[in-house]
Amino acid sequence: MLFRCLSKEGFRDLVEMTLETIEVVGPKEIGRDKDDNPIHHYLPVSNPDELDFDYATTEYSAKTYFLPFQENLSTYRFDEDDWTQDIRYRIQPRAIIGLHACDINGLLKLDKVFARDFFPSPYYISRRENTFIVGIDHEPCEGGFCRSLGTDTVTHGFDLFLTDLGDRYFVAIGSDRGFGALQKVHAREITDEDTHDYLTERQRLAGLFQAEVPVHDLGTLLDIEFTSEVWEKWGRKCMSCGSCAMVCPTCYCYGVMEKVSMDFERGVKQRQAYSCNLVDFAEVAGGHNFRPDSTTRLKYRYYHQHRGFVEIYDEPKCVGCNRCGRTCLAGISPVEVITDLQMDEQT
Ligand code: SF4
Ligand code: SF4
Repeated sequence: MLFRCLSKEGFRDLVEMTLETIEVVGPKEIGRDKDDNPIHHYLPVSNPDELDFDYATTEYSAKTYFLPFQENLSTYRFDEDDWTQDIRYRIQPRAIIGLHACDINGLLKLDKVFARDFFPSPYYISRRENTFIVGIDHEPCEGGFCRSLGTDTVTHGFDLFLTDLGDRYFVAIGSDRGFGALQKVHAREITDEDTHDYLTERQRLAGLFQAEVPVHDLGTLLDIEFTSEVWEKWGRKCMSCGSCAMVCPTCYCYGVMEKVSMDFERGVKQRQAYSCNLVDFAEVAGGHNFRPDSTTRLKYRYYHQHRGFVEIYDEPKCVGCNRCGRTCLAGISPVEVITDLQMDEQT
């Protein structure tokens, strides 16, 4: 990988130049919670000052810019004995600046499903390829257990990745277009001092990230604990609202609906985000529901994150961001559920 050093002014120029041509999205403070902590979302910005890199996490992940909650897959129109279909992919470029390593790792997992598997999605790929991604190093967020899952660092999946060295950024270059962008703002070659400062900062950050959850061999533990009372304990609390899947950077379940106009002349096929915790997720034609209670649905979500996905892609789907734990009104946190399972095995 190539590295460069970029002054803070140079970075500001880079954002301003980008804003002149494409939409720029980044962490933006949108308000305060009851404890007066700032709340951030990834939102479009109109100038570099709106980007707040001093953020712990965002409520929603950046997934929505690649897999929107709802999108039209196609529209169609009937014309006498014929019909025409219109399919549009997003090709307008966009930059997302300030993603943390766990969220870039989340995109890499989505890539495996939507860009590299048997049935790649052109809708996802068009967004992914037309999005310029700039990551940034950060201190751990509350409740995050990314270190346990190895997602606190990232080596690819971005165009540029910044580490703040106080008066300048140490920049890892992850693509040709990242390299080209840095050329325009005269980033310089790194010196021994830059490398030394970067390694010192990386060491400081690594010391702050602690492994929170013992996930080693979690797949086997899940197999053993399939009938554990732990599922009942947490499943009874679940209100089946689906919020956990909506904020999760890697949950990708969806449904497809067809809406036809009253005159039967035109229609639209829509993809809509869904959640395996919703009551009718496993309902099939005829009305039978394979997972009628919240306990089995909650269990399924954990099995997909840490068991099923591992079987197919050799890694968990979860990146340990704890967005699901923070958003859950029933207080269901992945750290507590997994720790309970570990405890149950020992008793
Ligand atoms: S685990 Fe929490 S956020 Fe997820 S569906 Fe259940 S109540 Fe909602
Ligand atoms: S399951 Fe929860 S902790 Fe894991 S990636 Fe999704 S939101 Fe983050």
